Amino acid sequence: MSEAATRAKLSEVLRALEKPYGKVIVLPEEPTLDHAVFLLLREGWDYRKAQRALRILQKEYVDWNEVRVSSPAELKSALAELGDKDLDVKVEKLRSLLAALWKERNATALEFLREMQPESRQRLLSNLGVLHQGIVQVLLHAMAGPDSALPVPQGAVRTLTRLGLIDRVHSDGAARKVLEKLLDPEDLHAYLLLLTQHGEEICQAKSPRCGECVLVESCKFKRKVGVKDGGEEE
Ligand code: SF4
Repeated sequence: MSEAATRAKLSEVLRALEKPYGKVIVLPEEPTLDHAVFLLLREGWDYRKAQRALRILQKEYVDWNEVRVSSPAELKSALAELGDKDLDVKVEKLRSLLAALWKERNATALEFLREMQPESRQRLLSNLGVLHQGIVQVLLHAMAGPDSALPVPQGAVRTLTRLGLIDRVHSDGAARKVLEKLLDPEDLHAYLLLLTQHGEEICQAKSPRCGECVLVESCKFKRKVGVKDGGEEE
């Protein structure tokens, strides 16, 4: 595929992924814990819905400590307008994050991380045991500033390889170099977040859910897992 054709296909993929997941809203001005909560809420929800939930929590509660000491029923009631069947799971994850942070640092903020070295930040966020690696990487990148290199999670590399947009690469650094060459800088962050979500929820390593994939029409890999053109499972 020529470079121009690859660029055009990358752009098509970005627009296609915005349909199920929503346009990426980057929250650079949010405090770090608010950003973490947003990313936690985003799992399985699109960006608009996750941002709406975050705004409700910010408006209804004085601070994250008040959220921490609230019961699951109170939190579910505050978020009831979202009417989602996964509300129990979201509330449980949110409470687990705040409880883990309280246990670790007696805190309901993450700004102290800015005083730490990157390795210590990563260790602490991972040790909380609630945030998956994709979220940890996005938070680390946000704290490191706009000039730092955004890592490319495995899920994103996997989907790009299966779509035939990049050759199989063996490191996230190599994948990032390819993407930086082909994408506009302002699209790169949105692209990686959407691809990461897609890689985690649909284009999974062992059992990709090609029948539910919005990229199925342009994917070469689908045939290997038994999906005909048009997305119908064989
Ligand atoms: S069609 Fe299947 S293999 Fe291709 S991107 Fe979608 S989920 Fe992944």
